[in-house]
Amino acid sequence: MRCFYAPETEGHDPSFRITHGCVVQNAERPERARLLQKGLAEVRLTTEEPGTYPRSALERVHTPRFLNYLETCWDEWQALPDAGPEVIGNAFPRNAAARYPTGLVARAGWHAADVSAPIGPHSWTATRRSADCALAAADAVLGGARTAYALCRPPGHHTSAEVAGGHCLLNVSAIAAAHLRETHERVAILDIDTHHGNGTQDIFWERGDVFFASVHTDPSDYYPFFTGFADETGAGDGVGATLNLPLPRTTGGISWCASIHDALERIIAFDPGALVVSLGLDAHTDDPLKGMRVDDSGFTRAGALIADAGLPTVFVQEGGYLSDSLPSALSSFMDGVCSMVRSG
Ligand SMILES: [Zn+2]
Repeated sequence: MRCFYAPETEGHDPSFRITHGCVVQNAERPERARLLQKGLAEVRLTTEEPGTYPRSALERVHTPRFLNYLETCWDEWQALPDAGPEVIGNAFPRNAAARYPTGLVARAGWHAADVSAPIGPHSWTATRRSADCALAAADAVLGGARTAYALCRPPGHHTSAEVAGGHCLLNVSAIAAAHLRETHERVAILDIDTHHGNGTQDIFWERGDVFFASVHTDPSDYYPFFTGFADETGAGDGVGATLNLPLPRTTGGISWCASIHDALERIIAFDPGALVVSLGLDAHTDDPLKGMRVDDSGFTRAGALIADAGLPTVFVQEGGYLSDSLPSALSSFMDGVCSMVRSG
């Protein structure tokens, strides 16, 4: 399996987040990439650097003003009096009459759902290179590969067309899906991160050509809180093209894989030309965000189930945070994928 990783993504090193009223270290650290590469090495997979892709590949899912903001906001921020080292909003639009603002502090609020993704001097380069990884993996599959993997940092699935959140900047899974959609009439996304893929759902909410399925922790009392419930099924042309399968925080590998199996049945019925898997590893029982209780064997089973669906598949790294088990979560998953691809 070809795997893509760009070292420039390590330049994105957000310093903090707020949880339960406390300022704590941000969970989306560059060390994640080193642990994920260790996991790949355990199953003898190595990474290559992706080429660079034009901005038009990002504009398929993001607005031009959001891209302009991400590109320029850090330099502009430095001109603010007593500016901190990272761009972070502190006022957020909630009124129906809210209008797009001109000032930078207001734009920082417009383009953010929460305060978990501070933007530093190298964040734009990092998120663009993260998108390049996803696009290169998509091109590998379009070129005939059965599967490909993108080690993306920062992740993307919480970002909508122009609102970032949940440690994410550009929505790399959505960008990969839109790239595949240029060739295939129908594309599916399966999001198995333990957090609902609210940004991806929002981007394709009214589209009938991209099926979005998410298996995640019940959002009633878990991030992203406001979406991800079973009765959300899409709107307009997209009615029926969104599937949400929320699960309790106590869920282990057997129930998790049963829901992944159910999602794959719906995806196969949709008959897509290709599949993007938003590969969060934070359902692992040792993940510090404590979304579920899936062990390594559950990840192996999930990898085998997804590969057994027989679709050209792009795996895009989403969440999965610092723990001694992060490498084995990825290597176990890839072991399941590779064993099924070899036998199939
Ligand atoms: Zn997550």
